[in-house]
Amino acid sequence: MGLTQGSRFKAFELKVDLLLTRAGHVATLRGPRGPKRGRGLRGPGLVAGGAVAVRDGRVVDVGPTPRLRARYQAATVLDAEGGLVTPGFVDPHNHLPFAGNRAFELRLKLAGKSYESILKAGGGILRTIRDTQGATLSELTRLVRERARTMLAWGTTTSEAKSGYGRDWPHERKQLEAVRRASDPHGVELVPTFLGAHAVPPRPPGGRAAWVRRIAHDMVPAVAKARLADFVDVFLDRAAYTREEARIVLDQARRHGLRTKLHADEFTNQRAAELGAETGATSCDHLLRVSKRGIARLAASSSVAVLLPGVAALGFLDSQAPARALVEAGAAVALGTDFNPNCPVLTMPTVLQWGVYELRLTPEEALAACTTNAAHALGRGNEVGRIEKGYQADLLVHDVASVEELAYWVGQNPVRAVVKRGKVRVGRG
Ligand SMILES: [Zn+2]
Repeated sequence: MGLTQGSRFKAFELKVDLLLTRAGHVATLRGPRGPKRGRGLRGPGLVAGGAVAVRDGRVVDVGPTPRLRARYQAATVLDAEGGLVTPGFVDPHNHLPFAGNRAFELRLKLAGKSYESILKAGGGILRTIRDTQGATLSELTRLVRERARTMLAWGTTTSEAKSGYGRDWPHERKQLEAVRRASDPHGVELVPTFLGAHAVPPRPPGGRAAWVRRIAHDMVPAVAKARLADFVDVFLDRAAYTREEARIVLDQARRHGLRTKLHADEFTNQRAAELGAETGATSCDHLLRVSKRGIARLAASSSVAVLLPGVAALGFLDSQAPARALVEAGAAVALGTDFNPNCPVLTMPTVLQWGVYELRLTPEEALAACTTNAAHALGRGNEVGRIEKGYQADLLVHDVASVEELAYWVGQNPVRAVVKRGKVRVGRG
């Protein structure tokens, strides 16, 4: 792949910063505004032999290479040499800022212990809370930056990052502060989410109701005031928070101008998808135990259904979320990593492939779920996740020739070059 300085300026040409040329195909993901649903998920908007012109970090034109070459004078030309070009991947759900790891739990899982029993034995999330509370802000920031480097090399250009392992306010704030410091507008842009309602403390000070009030009435306003997060999320499940507790926290979030998300119907059905759809949550995530009614409610709502196939694939669970039923019903399906100590996967190409091999999405559906729909799950669907005029120029050149091939090869990094806001960040010249 060639990266060259532009040729001599001719008066009739328009100046651009970057011209990406000679893609085998550009998968633009163009189409009507809003997340893609149903049949709309199947059309990746391919431009054969395509090129993309970029000025001031934004896409100004997409079309056949000969037309764009004739029209634009570029400071830098990136030759895709026949590779597939897609938007940068968007990871809409992960728990990036944590310390330590839980490799030792592999043996417990292999011995058949459930998540709930590991939790009750004082392991699981409680261990990560201890490790994360013990880490300094600079240690956490370094960990998030290291992880973001790997993500960028594998094509993620925008990503969520949740708190939730600090639990006490000073440590939750520390996690969100680490995310803010590690976010890089020319690398991986991080979208912070406050997940104060993650694990319920074993003996909450003042009792459980007082603890929920503290999250809703003290922590949420503090997050909003300091602009530490864009979203508030609640882990709604039998071993975590109840519907009523979730409602209290999410109400306060909206009252303070923050958007909402739910860990919904993951281990048990709690009618969480219904609650998310009803209260206008930007996304309902996990959905392994969602009911037919929950699927219908999601499909009729603006809430994005974020599926996280790594949880079952790496957690020895015997079922996945009903992805096909969600797509057929018309829900806006997105895919994410859920990177956390219980699901240690950072790379979106792996998730795209699981979308096909585990969830039975088509390669085109999986690509839309990892790009434009994932962006909508972060409220950024009109900014990133597509290659269209006006969108942020977050582009990937892959070492494969087609969307099918992107889904096909497993365990290899397909990403040959990463362009973030018009700057070539990763690439072999
Ligand atoms: Zn999660």
